Amino acid sequence: MFCTNCGKEINENAYVCPGCGALVQPKSTSAPENGAKKTNVLAIVGFVLSFLFPIAGLICSIIGHRNAAQYQDQYKSLALAGIIISAVALALSLLAVVLGLLWVYGILGIIASVSGV
Ligand SMILES: [Zn+2]
Repeated sequence: MFCTNCGKEINENAYVCPGCGALVQPKSTSAPENGAKKTNVLAIVGFVLSFLFPIAGLICSIIGHRNAAQYQDQYKSLALAGIIISAVALALSLLAVVLGLLWVYGILGIIASVSGV
């Protein structure tokens, strides 16, 4: 960066210009620049969780997807992938539970018919 008073090149973190001694304004943290440095953590966490804990992954991915606009759409597609993966994983686990229950009821039915109850 350059001194606004004398134009001499100075250190980014300097508060006082070494050339003229003028107070240097710290680099202004403009909103878009600041936003670019932030990471859409929820999108990443949601994507990872979608494999391990689909319900938590789904929630994090939805929030991460909604918040993506605040991060210049960073990881928006990753969050979308997290939503899809966790939704599929949830559907599969629900299917497994239903099939498991049907299987248990089927076994119980066979036992009942064999024992003549
Ligand atoms: Zn200066």
